[in-house]
Amino acid sequence: MLKAHLIHLISRLSRIRHTMTDSCIFCKIVSGEAKAEIVHRDAQVTAFRDIHPVAPTHILIVPNRHIESVSALETDDEQLVGHIFTVARKVAHEEGISRGGYRLITNTGIDGGQTVFHLHVHLIGGQRMRHPMG
Ligand code: 5GP
Ligand code: ZN
Repeated sequence: MLKAHLIHLISRLSRIRHTMTDSCIFCKIVSGEAKAEIVHRDAQVTAFRDIHPVAPTHILIVPNRHIESVSALETDDEQLVGHIFTVARKVAHEEGISRGGYRLITNTGIDGGQTVFHLHVHLIGGQRMRHPMG
């Protein structure tokens, strides 16, 4: 009885995961189903150029696994979050913007201005930017 229940639960969960991968544009970029200019890829994260850049360098760093936003992170994801920053630093260096500086942004939820609900960090640089707090 319990076994049947567990099998049912696992199959439901894998369907939900499958549906996300099917509908999420960043999951599709990670899997290669959708095109993007990828600048870094490893076992945990993928970095690619934003389709509507707001500065000379505008790259998105995303976990390969679908995580909706910062709000959906779990304690076990702490290493992954640190790795996203390590990749941001490495890509910034490769883009030649380390010395001049850059901005890392993670919009979270509707009020935070998030429009793609797959966690991502924007790496933006290559020009002097106004301070976001005015
Ligand atoms: P958000 O608004 O969620 O913080 O950022 C989403 C970002 O994803 C936006 O800057 C938008 O331009 C970018 N974006 C949306 N769809 C695509 C896409 O299909 N390909 C790429 N490369 N970037 C996308
Ligand atoms: Zn996704």
